[in-house]
Amino acid sequence: MKKVKVHSVVTIAVFTSLVAIVSFEARTGRGQSQNQKNDSQNLKSESLVKPTVLATDRAATKEAAISPFAEAAARNLVLRNDLTWTFGNKQQHGWYLYDLLIGQTLNIPPATATPDFSSAVSIWQKQKGLSPNGVLDESSWMALVSQWQADRLKNKTPATPDQLLTAPPSDFYDPERLPELRQVERATYAAYKAGDLAPTEKYFKIVSSFRSREYQEQLRRQSPGAGSAGLATNSPHFTGRALDLYVGGDPVDTKDANRAIQVQTPAYQWLVRNAARFGFRPYFYEPWHWEYVK
Ligand SMILES: [Zn+2]
Repeated sequence: MKKVKVHSVVTIAVFTSLVAIVSFEARTGRGQSQNQKNDSQNLKSESLVKPTVLATDRAATKEAAISPFAEAAARNLVLRNDLTWTFGNKQQHGWYLYDLLIGQTLNIPPATATPDFSSAVSIWQKQKGLSPNGVLDESSWMALVSQWQADRLKNKTPATPDQLLTAPPSDFYDPERLPELRQVERATYAAYKAGDLAPTEKYFKIVSSFRSREYQEQLRRQSPGAGSAGLATNSPHFTGRALDLYVGGDPVDTKDANRAIQVQTPAYQWLVRNAARFGFRPYFYEPWHWEYVK
């Protein structure tokens, strides 16, 4: 009896586990077929997308692996905001305010910290006899600043009265500006009017043009903190060939926050791209200041 009892217990146990296995397989089997169905649907919908994603991933990985400028791009990304340099006795931070000018000089789209940008920097560095590492570090940045400064008006001989004309109040940002402060060197004024520089609404209107030594001294007395980057003792405005044009923001404020607004305006961007055609060169530090160099 004992044996029979044990046997039937074993039989029941085996039967129970068989049922369990069969029902488990049925469940997972059904599950698998559903998964397969989903997979085939996914494949169908992904077949349009996946190769593109893979190709982009591969290209990016390949670029990072083979571009000698990937590391330079990473350094430029930091220096763009953090490079410490001195100009006009003032400590400056980064070169992000000059993205557009840098791009114009290097003949590429506005500067961004990409391997392509670093590659363009290295080509320019080679031309300038600098180490072509593609990094706009302090020495390369100061060389670029020197290049811009060298392109400016060289002859700063003050204008004689016969070289000047008095422009109408409608050309000026402040229509109340006195006649003696509305004088412009004749060829400069002709170029200003010939270009599409002629004012549209308030943009491109003249904020300041010819300044006599006396007037410049008066401005310096009013604003003693302006320093050499602001109101120069030997100002190009003495020639009547320098125009401060309205490009947005606070017209002639060198604060970074103000210049950050100005370099984003269509008026400034247009000037950077086109003013050279009319004979005007920028003063990199003041988005509003343009000099007629012909
Ligand atoms: Zn100026």
